[in-house]
Order: sequence, then C-alpha cells, then structure tokens
Amino acid sequence: HADTAMYHAKEQGRNNVQFFAAAMNTAASERLELERELRQALRQKQFELYYQPKVRTADGSLYGVEALLRWRHPKFGIISPLKFIPIAEEAGLIETIGAWVLDEACRQLIAWREAGISGLTMAVNLSAHQLRSPALAEQVLACIKYYGLREGELELEVTESMAMNNPERAIGQLQSLRALGVHLAIDDFGTGYSSLAYLKLLPIQTIKLDRTFVRDIETDVNDAAISTATLALAHSLGLKVVAEGVETEAQRQFLARHGCDFLQGYLFGKPEPAEVWTQRWSEPTDDAPSPVSS
Ligand code: C2E
Ligand code: MG
Ligand code: MG
Ligand code: MG
Repeated sequence: HADTAMYHAKEQGRNNVQFFAAAMNTAASERLELERELRQALRQKQFELYYQPKVRTADGSLYGVEALLRWRHPKFGIISPLKFIPIAEEAGLIETIGAWVLDEACRQLIAWREAGISGLTMAVNLSAHQLRSPALAEQVLACIKYYGLREGELELEVTESMAMNNPERAIGQLQSLRALGVHLAIDDFGTGYSSLAYLKLLPIQTIKLDRTFVRDIETDVNDAAISTATLALAHSLGLKVVAEGVETEAQRQFLARHGCDFLQGYLFGKPEPAEVWTQRWSEPTDDAPSPVSS
C-alpha cells in the first residue's frame, strides 16, 4: 500500500506541475499578447480617462477630480489599470502612456474651465518609472505652459513605496515638481513601508489614507487607530488628508469627526468619463457635488 500511496503522490505531483506549467504558459502568453496590443493602444485611441470627484469634508463641495486611466480593449472591454500598468512599465511603454495621461488630464481641466466649470484641481497618478524619469519635470512644465495652468491646479500622486524606494532621488524629483507650482500627494498611505523621518523631508502637501483602512473604520479598532494616528501625524506636519474609498455615511461621519480634510469614494461619485460629469455639473438640480461655476 505504501507503493500505491507513493505512486499516487507522485502522479498528483506531476499533474500539479503540468497544471501549473499550463497556467503559467497561459499567463505568459496572455501577457505577451496584451503587451503587443498595448503598443498599438495609444495610436488606436483606446485609452480613456475617467474622473472621480474629491470633496471638502466640511461642506461636501467639490474640490477637484482624480484622473483614472482606462483601456478600452476591442475584445475584452474596459481593462483595469492595475492589470495593464505593470505590463506597460515592464515593456517600457509607461513613459509614453504617462505623458498622454498628463496632457489629456490638463486638456480636460481647461476644457471644463472654458465651459464655466472652474476652480477644480486635477490629480494625476504617476508610475514608479515616471518618478525616476529625468524627463518628468520638463514634461510637466510643458503642460503647465501650454495649458496655462495656475499654481496648485495640478496635483501629482505618488505612492509611498515609489518615494521610499530611493528617497534621495524621489526628494530631488519632487522638489523640482514642487518648484513648478504642482501639488504633491502620497497615494495609498499606510500600505507601504515608509519612514516617518523621510516623510518629513518629502515636499508634499497631502496624504491619501488608503481605502483598506477606511473600509472598516467604524468597526475595526486597529483601522480606526491607524486612521486617527495618520490624521494627527499629517496635521502636525502641516499636511492635508484625503480619505480614499468612502462608501458609507457612517464612514463619512467618522472621518468628519476626526478632522479629515477631503473625501473621495463611491459615496460621492465613481470614476466616470468627462462627459458624464460635464452634463451632471451643468444640471443645477442634481445632487452630485458640483463646482462653483463662473
Ligand atoms: P488609486 O490612485 O489609489 O485610485 C483609487 C482606486 O480606487 C481607483 O481604482 C478607484 O476606482 C477606486 N475607488 C475609488 N473609490 C472607491 C470606493 O469607494 N470603493 C472602492 N472599492 N474602490 C474605489 P482604479 O481606477 O481601478 O485604479 C487603480 C489604480 O491604478 C490607482 O489607484 C492608481 O494607482 C493606478 N492608476 C490609475 N490611473 C493611473 C494612471 O493614469 N497612471 C498610473 N501610473 N497609475 C494609474
Ligand atoms: Mg491615486
Ligand atoms: Mg489611492
Ligand atoms: Mg489605491
């Protein structure tokens, strides 16, 4: 019987290996296919920006929007940036895609301003590769000049891990962006490893509390503690806090009670194409957060 057991174990092991190899092949070939298609996606105008509102906690008024990239794949439909951005990074495509995102987001901000929807800020996410790129500040400056952006109108978001990977380089890069009048935010705060000593050295204005802490903020004492500690730390460093992923009224109330400055999440609006917001903000009766129109 021992033989039989051994035989079965071996057989199963072999099957597992075969199964695993097949799965890996699928993943690898799917990846290659996506990479090939990503190379053409820009030219074929398959990228779109969706915009998600960010509101002032105090009165729920609209403070600005965050641009979130979408890939409308001809066969698979909308693909999440979480799936294709790592591929774009590895394939060396992120700089081109990132430059498009930056330009498109600024163009939209000005289009809104010209349509009388003014006073908004525009937040754009940067990838790790962009933060390392010597061309970034120049790209941003070109956008600011071309679109005539004002101080603080453009906000760039980087994650903790991107900034902490090489703090000296990140500080240098962020300082040159800051010198251009750009606002800087640390995205997904609390999920990465960050040194508080370095946090103090980063020329940032805002911390975005990750939505994993917001989810159970009123029921999980640890999440509540992390959130209130982050708020206290940020405020004592003179930084503003945006809470991500606010979905319920109870979460909103908790965050308001603890002095969170800005809120973002499905409670106030999901990411939607620009036209959807333009239309909503043009209807005065709608209860979606609306900007001060000029
Ligand atoms: P992020 O910058 O932290 O963006 C927030 C993500 O949470 C978005 O996912 C948004 O749709 C989602 N979200 C917002 N509110 C809620 C909520 O109330 N509940 C839940 N469950 N989710 C919410 P999305 O759009 O899939 O983006 C994922 C990530 O991809 C972003 O995280 C950002 O890191 C990255 N990303 C998006 N656009 C770009 C881009 O243009 N460039 C780069 N480099 N990265 C981008
Ligand atoms: Mg972000
Ligand atoms: Mg985030
Ligand atoms: Mg996030």
